[in-house]
Amino acid sequence: MDIHEYQAKELLANFGVPVPRGGVAYTAEQAMFRAEEIGGSRWVVKAQIHSGARGRAGGVKVCESEHEVRVAAGELLGKRLVTHQTGPSGKVVHRLYVEEAVTIAREIYLGLVLDRREERVCVVAAPEGGVEIEEIARDRPDTILREVIEPAVGMQPFQARELAFGLGVRSSEVNQAVKAIIGAYKAFRDLDATMVEINPLAVTVTGTVLALDAKMTFDDNALFRRPNVSELRDYAEEDPRDADASKHGLSYIALDGAIGCIVNGAGLAMATMDMIKHAGGEPANFLDIGGGASPERVAAAFQLVLSDPRVRVVLVNIFAGINRCDWVAQGIVQAAGSVSVPVPVVARLAGTNVDEGRRILRESGLHIVAAGDLADAARQAVFALEHGRGAPPNRATRGAA
Ligand code: GDP
Ligand code: MN
Repeated sequence: MDIHEYQAKELLANFGVPVPRGGVAYTAEQAMFRAEEIGGSRWVVKAQIHSGARGRAGGVKVCESEHEVRVAAGELLGKRLVTHQTGPSGKVVHRLYVEEAVTIAREIYLGLVLDRREERVCVVAAPEGGVEIEEIARDRPDTILREVIEPAVGMQPFQARELAFGLGVRSSEVNQAVKAIIGAYKAFRDLDATMVEINPLAVTVTGTVLALDAKMTFDDNALFRRPNVSELRDYAEEDPRDADASKHGLSYIALDGAIGCIVNGAGLAMATMDMIKHAGGEPANFLDIGGGASPERVAAAFQLVLSDPRVRVVLVNIFAGINRCDWVAQGIVQAAGSVSVPVPVVARLAGTNVDEGRRILRESGLHIVAAGDLADAARQAVFALEHGRGAPPNRATRGAA
């Protein structure tokens, strides 16, 4: 899960990372009020979207008067910002962050990532930041510093000092830089982050070290134990299908194929995708409905899969241990009643209450191809796809009954 810059700054500040003073605004009026509250004579108005490279896309504006703040805020709010991280459709700005502007002497790059090969948290830093790490890696890779953190003991002060000296920070600024680096590390560790990026970590002309930008990504699997992080989720920033899926407790990943999959269990979902490929088809998605899925959740899964216009066949594969086949069958029937199912459905049910589940499907009047096992289900799905049975859009699969 990603969060906004202003949220990341607040979290980081709690761990001792120095940040400029600022406030959130949802209207131009509020932005002006924030500037007044912050005081001073220069401010930065920053678009809050889940993307970097906002500066180059016009999403970061330095203002010299409260009137300028108001104008800049008016221009940014509601605007669709296209950065090279958002894709061509961009992201609409709904929130702004207004900060006191500082005069920058140096911009440093500081990032913490989970290095999967090292199986460690790795600190990456470069003396000339402000541009993306990919650019630094391409243009001056020899300037990049790395420090691997030993998990048993955590980051040691000498490691932060080594980084600060390596970055060429002046001796009067070293302590501040060390505080920022250690704070970023503690926030990363204590909040179950997978990425913290401060770019730039600025040194101002008056010799103050400040995080001018901040980005944090969190481990979704740890959110349950970090309520103060998970409440920062901004659904407006996410793919509506992903957001919808997580609301219903479904794990969903969209793919390119035409066979929609509804499966319980991540391993079985993977095996189902493999079998579809083996039978000559392409899966449209990965979808794990989890254990103990209620009819409502199955219905939600159906709606989700059918919201993808590429889906021309749905394959349901349930091996019910914790789950119950009759619940899944009820879910399918419920889904068919609430949304039109314009494509053929192939279902393979096995396990708990399988006979009852099959009976529900049989007696539902729905055109559902019952498959014997997984290989058969994959074959049937590919057959249905190739022969276009039920393929014309909006033709309901309800039977004559
Ligand atoms: P990004 O483009 O999404 O990474 O947004 P940043 O927050 O990093 O801002 C982009 C650039 O704007 C920074 O690299 C700075 O050069 C500049 N910037 C941000 N805040 C200030 C500020 O307070 N004063 C000045 N002069 N420049 C700033
Ligand atoms: Mn930045």
